This record gives sequence, structure tokens and C-alpha cells, in this order.
Amino acid sequence: MSNPKTRRAQTIIKPDRDRRFVTEDNPFEAMMSRFDDAARRLNLEPGLYKVLRSPEKQIIVSVPIVRDSGEIEVFTGIRVLHNTSRGPAKGGIRFDMAVTLDEVKALAAWMTWKCAVVNLPFGGGKGGVICDPTTMSVGELERLTRRYTAELMETLGPDSDVPAPDVNTNERVMAWIMDTYSMRVGHTVTAVVTGKPIEMGGSLGRRDATGRGCLVVTKEALARLEIPIDKATVAVQGFGNVGSTAARLMAAEGMRIVAVSDKKGGIHDPSGIDIPAALEWVKEHRFLEGFPGAKSVTNEELLTLKCDVLVPAALENVITSKNAAQIKARIICEGANGPTTARADAILDKKGIFVIPDILANAGGVTVSYFEWVQDRGGYFWDEETVNERLEKIMSKAFTEVVGMAEKHEVGMRIGAYMLAIERVAAMHRMRGLYA
Ligand code: NAD
Repeated sequence: MSNPKTRRAQTIIKPDRDRRFVTEDNPFEAMMSRFDDAARRLNLEPGLYKVLRSPEKQIIVSVPIVRDSGEIEVFTGIRVLHNTSRGPAKGGIRFDMAVTLDEVKALAAWMTWKCAVVNLPFGGGKGGVICDPTTMSVGELERLTRRYTAELMETLGPDSDVPAPDVNTNERVMAWIMDTYSMRVGHTVTAVVTGKPIEMGGSLGRRDATGRGCLVVTKEALARLEIPIDKATVAVQGFGNVGSTAARLMAAEGMRIVAVSDKKGGIHDPSGIDIPAALEWVKEHRFLEGFPGAKSVTNEELLTLKCDVLVPAALENVITSKNAAQIKARIICEGANGPTTARADAILDKKGIFVIPDILANAGGVTVSYFEWVQDRGGYFWDEETVNERLEKIMSKAFTEVVGMAEKHEVGMRIGAYMLAIERVAAMHRMRGLYA
């Protein structure tokens, strides 16, 4: 507070309002427009605004590997640490041709706000390697992962930067990162990554964590809207890790799942879909298509079905200015990252739909990643019941705090969540002051 460079001021933040609507589907724009809105309402000091907008570190490395053919190929790797004022950077690593610095920057900032909403002692980071893993052998992927890790040795570490799986990376990739890092420092450091296999320090409950988090906040929202759980109807887009777990756990609590979908399309049954049977069907047939007794719906139709709760848990930018007005759900629980565009936000707000924003709704995953890091550092592992109990407590508390912020400032839940997160990160900066 005493630092003049971070003293509060009334003016100066002048985000160009029109910029937010230039491209409806750009992730960086989507995040920044919400950040700007929340920062303005918080009357954030201009100096702090500039600090929080700028990633701390943007690292671009060349990642040369020897292909199986004997040829040398050089890939580009990126790691961005957006903000580490509250703790080590936390965020996934993706292997994908679509990786760009702009996208990684946006996703890293997103992680800062997500970790702060649920009050974890983590900052935000994200990384990626521009490559097509589908054309690479296991050996090539291992060499790529190990060289990328070696190039990031300066920033990686359980106290500084802790990656996790993301698009096209998995437990095996995390194991390679952990091993490479451990070899370089001379001893085993399991806490350098999360999302590891259970046998090497992964946490019980991680697989279900994001879907379980969705369940917890959905129950909170139903209670606020006075919709009894056993009367609630739910449509879920996406039947992968997040969507299928959310559907399974919600059904087990007595909610009626009227529709689910995957990338080939969806199934709809107003009297309720038997989710365990649908999971069995998918195990055998890969897709929901053809599930007996249900009508088929397209992914677009699913979004506008009559239901109490809509859970977009597949992709970004599915709720847009084109379909938001047709949405009939009373609650939207954003299992996916960025499923709603900023333009759609305004329409949903007007309709009075209760949106549980992504940075709150899907924070169960990073919360159990935090538990994994805590368990690795303590060398003492919890049973699944303990993991789930602690997860529920954190998610419920965060929900209540976001509601409190939204009510206090008379804003929707999304801007309330951003305001809570920004306020927490800003508070840390004010207390720490500016190192110079
Ligand atoms: P996943 O790959 O396990 O599942 C994705 C699902 O979406 C699959 O059922 C797939 O068929 C479906 N899908 C793909 N394209 C589709 C399309 N065009 N229309 C409809 N459905 C489509 O992925 P996941 O881990 O469940 O992640 C889903 C979303 O949740 C992503 O946005 C991810 O970033 C976000 N998320 C995941 C976690 C986690 O812990 N897994 C945590 C936070 C956020």
C-alpha cells in the first residue's frame, strides 16, 4: 500500500472498450476483456494493472531431436509464467501444431486467476511445443519432452514452475519431465510436475477432480435458485474426462441427465439417460452414437435444450452471440475452459442465467493438482475420501466467495470471480511492494 508505484488511483485505466468485440473467439481477447472489466470495477491502481497484464516471463526455446530416421529436426517450445506472486507457476503443457505464444500467454494468465479464485498458493503458467504428436513415435516424443525440459531447467522446479498435462500430453509425459528434472538436480523431485501416475506420487481422486468440482458448484447453484437436486435436469456437452465424470456424479446425486454428447453428436432422453450404461456403451463403441432408447441431437441443439443445468464440457466458444438468446437452462456450469464468448456473456446476463464461470467451475482439477504437490512435498499420501472432502470444502468456499463478490459489486458471477482473483493477486503485490 505504501509503495507509491502501486498506490490506488481513480482513473487512467482506459481499456479500449471496442477491442473486446473485435474477434469473438480469440482466447486472449476473451480473457483480457473480462480482466479489463473486473480491474476497472475494482479501481485497480494503474501501475498494478500494467503489472498484472504483463506475463513475468515468456520463454521460447529450440528443441532439437534426432528423429527415428536419423535426421535432426528442430521444434519450437514455449513456456510462459504469467504471475508467481502467490506461489510457483502452475499450468499445463500441450503438444500441438496450433500452439502460439499469444494463446499460451492467455492460458497462463487464465491459470493465475483460476488458482487465485480457489485461493491456492500458486501463480499461473502454461507451455507448449509446436509439433504434431500423432506423427511421432514414443521414442521421439520422449526425446522431445526431455530436451524441452532440459531447456527449461532455469525456471522449472517445485518452488518456481510446476507443469501438468494438457492437450496431447499425459501421465507418461509428466513422468519423463519428472525424471529429466530429477537427473539434472541429482535427486528425485516428484513435486516438479502434477498429473503423474499414482505409483510415482500422483494423487488419488485426480481423474474425477474436475467433474467433482463441477458437481459441488452446481449443487451450490441449485440451492441458491431453490431447485431441488432430485428435480434438476442436466444437459452435458462433451463426454470425456470432465463431462462424463460430471454426468456420472450428478446422476448419482439424483439429478436427471437428459442429454450428453461427444464430438460425433449427442443423445437426448427427457426421462433421463442411464449414465453408467452410456459409459459402458462408449467403452465398447467409442462414441455415444446409437445408444439404445435415446434420440439423437446435434451438439448445437443440445445447448438449447430445455433443462435446468447446462454443462459445456468439451470446447471453447460454443456459447456465442448467435445462440445465447436461445439457451433455456437456468444454470450454466462451465466445465470447459472458455466455452462462452464475451458477447454471449452480455446476453446470458440479460436473460438472468446463473453462470458458474470456468475459472471457478473447473478449478477442481488444479485444486487436486495442488493436493498432489502438497502430498509429494510432505511425503505423506491421503486416501481418496480425504482428497474429495478437502476438494469439496475448497470449491464450496470459493463459490460462496464469488457470490459474495458478485453481490457486493452487483455484477455477474464471471466478473465476480475475476474481481475476487485479481483482488487476491493485487493484495499480494501491494504487500510485497515492487522489487527494484
Ligand atoms: P477430453 O478429451 O477427455 O474430452 C473431450 C470431450 O469433448 C470428448 O467427449 C469429445 O468427444 C468431446 N468433443 C470434442 N470435440 C467436440 C465437439 N466439436 N463438439 C462436442 N463435443 C466434442 O477432455 P477433458 O479433459 O474432458 O476437457 C474438456 C474441457 O475441459 C477442455 O476445455 C479442457 O480444457 C477443460 N478442462 C479440463 C480439465 C481436466 O482436468 N481434464 C480441467 C480444467 C478444464
